[in-house]
Amino acid sequence: MQALVVRRPRGVSVDAWEEAEPQGSDIALKVAACGVCGTDRHIADGTYPATYPNVLGHEFAGTVAAVGPTADKFVAGDSVAIDPNIACHECTPCRRGDVHLCERLEAIGVTRPGAMAPHIVVPQAQAYKVPAGVSLRDAAFAEPLSCVIHGVERVVTPLGASAVILGAGSIGLLMLQVLRSVGASSVTISEPSSARRSLAEELGANEVYTPEMMEHASHTAAYDVVVDCTGAPAALQSAVRLARRGADILLFGVAPAKTSVPIEPYELYRKELRLAASNINPFTMEKAVVMLAERTVEVDKIVSDRVELADLPKLLLGKPAPDEVKIALEFA
Ligand SMILES: [Zn+2]
Ligand SMILES: [Zn+2]
Repeated sequence: MQALVVRRPRGVSVDAWEEAEPQGSDIALKVAACGVCGTDRHIADGTYPATYPNVLGHEFAGTVAAVGPTADKFVAGDSVAIDPNIACHECTPCRRGDVHLCERLEAIGVTRPGAMAPHIVVPQAQAYKVPAGVSLRDAAFAEPLSCVIHGVERVVTPLGASAVILGAGSIGLLMLQVLRSVGASSVTISEPSSARRSLAEELGANEVYTPEMMEHASHTAAYDVVVDCTGAPAALQSAVRLARRGADILLFGVAPAKTSVPIEPYELYRKELRLAASNINPFTMEKAVVMLAERTVEVDKIVSDRVELADLPKLLLGKPAPDEVKIALEFA
């Protein structure tokens, strides 16, 4: 089959890749949709630890085409969304329940072949049945949504909180909707792109500003929850300034490794801030599928482009367009 193959950093092409057969309790899927994520871009250019050569794609959904000899949870024709993160269940973090912090974590589309290909084989334990009424196109959002749900679970006081989200890319826009759904009293968005700002308003943001406007004194110490969805190192400095006394700061965006930024520890003490980071999606896939089924979050509007395999090499190696939100690879 033809797949989006990364042979080495920046060596990205649509190329032949052997189609696997389901062994044991594996299931084989016909891929319907796969989101393009910042992580894919980082693997494509070699700035995220990954296995080469590999097929990219970890945010996906599809239809079960065949099942392995001992697979007993699905039958051909089932619609499924996939959790790409595979824990060992044997290391110390796993045995403490922190499967997302597994010391031997494998990930589909990172350390093993992903879904930027028409077919993929995955362990049945990674699959979640998608109810009728949820399109596979929407179901491909289950993985990023599950990560956002985990992030929100790290926030101690979302109920009744005035929240601010830095960055309204696809993650910021999911974060906005999940925070509203768990009872944040208001959600403010800081985002340079006007297209993304209007999308945020459409999806329920109470106020939207440019990052420059957020510098205004009226925003200082005004928020109970500050979520960074940019991964810009300097966002932590803004977060400390924007946080009200007793606030939660959630670092969701992934900052580049080995960058640092000065912050004033006294401010953390004075305001008694809680600083939480969030890493992938322990036990939240099922909740994500339910939220998609209940239409608690709207994902269709977040897709700014639907592309095919041939469009991906150029797209992955280029810089994201300023108004780009989510790009979805779709198979007919
Ligand atoms: Zn992703
Ligand atoms: Zn483990």
